[in-house]
Amino acid sequence: MERLETFLQQRADQGLLRTLRPVDSRGGGRISRDGRELIDLASNDYLGLANHRSLREAMTAATAQFGASSCASRLLSGDLSLHHALEDRVASLSGKPRASVFSSGYQANVGIISALVSKGDAVFSDRLNHASIVDGIALSGARCFRFRHNDLDHLETLLKKHSDDFKTRLIVTETVFSMEGDVSPLEAMADLKDKYGGLLMVDEAHATGVYGPDGAGIVAEARLAERVELTMGTFSKALGSFGAYVAASGPVIDFLINACRSFIYSTALPPGIVAANLAALETVANEPFRRTTLIENTTWFRQALIEKGYDVRGTSQIVPLVVGSAERATAAGSALQKAGFWVLPIRPPTVPAGESRLRFSLTYHHDRQQLTDLIAHIDQALHVPVY
Ligand SMILES: *Cc1c(COP(=O)(O)O)cnc(C)c1O
Repeated sequence: MERLETFLQQRADQGLLRTLRPVDSRGGGRISRDGRELIDLASNDYLGLANHRSLREAMTAATAQFGASSCASRLLSGDLSLHHALEDRVASLSGKPRASVFSSGYQANVGIISALVSKGDAVFSDRLNHASIVDGIALSGARCFRFRHNDLDHLETLLKKHSDDFKTRLIVTETVFSMEGDVSPLEAMADLKDKYGGLLMVDEAHATGVYGPDGAGIVAEARLAERVELTMGTFSKALGSFGAYVAASGPVIDFLINACRSFIYSTALPPGIVAANLAALETVANEPFRRTTLIENTTWFRQALIEKGYDVRGTSQIVPLVVGSAERATAAGSALQKAGFWVLPIRPPTVPAGESRLRFSLTYHHDRQQLTDLIAHIDQALHVPVY
């Protein structure tokens, strides 16, 4: 217990203690908490689908028909034909023969990677990959080589050096990176994978729904479905719902059904969620204006900040503005919150020391007027002195 208290005290002393702050209600890109309404720039509801009528109605109807739970793992009696309908839809959207759905993106990455590789194998992982990828590699027992973020030369150096030492070589990357908002050089990675032999797995958590034909993701946009062995994505971000998927070949999916512990030993997604996920995919295809508006507004917002001289990263709907120290990020975040914008400082250990940032997560709900006001408040917030 003393160790825990010391840990908490240290985090507090460094200004890095994490706390929970309940939201009382949300909708239309706004949240309300502590009796105040704020514009929410910290959600992943990129397309504004979480409150969409078609998702809510699909969820309610499936819950009325099948009940609130799937009542068991997919391998017991939890396997509904609805799950298969969703998997078929994801497979055809992703351009892969088969797909499998998971209860969350975290569970998908941990389970898939730890099933796919083990001791004697090697994983080549982008240094900024999500914690669920890091944890999956740790659990697998495979050797992990981390390459510098999006650095193909470094990746190739590592592949070259270790190409004969391991049975299976797995390259893992995100497509749109959650804290940088940039996109990985997928085609060149597929080239390296082919050159040195192995498998390529990508995580489209922040890309699914936003990029590619009908929101299929970056792999589909770059026409690389046949060269990426496993494409994982989530229903919990742009798709406004919950759960995750992986699209792959028939043998890979059959292998996961037999070997992936987070798939086997966990209750199947509830019918209401599965129906909402299907409705989300349909809505993304039917309402492309959600994607185009989001991308237009994001491009405008990023450009406006760059013209003011800010250190803005990335190219996607995630707009990180790097401010330096954790203290400066915290002070600016608090000032923006006071001004009515729910913006969070991202600090170490999530990002490297000295690269603390404000992360603006834009959604379909944010209009130009709100973004103009936001920019004015960013100017003010970043001129607040930090002591
Ligand atoms: C959010 C996220 C996950 C986890 O997905 P959940 O469905 O929220 O568990 C996995 N990978 C990346 C890159 C993510 O951003």
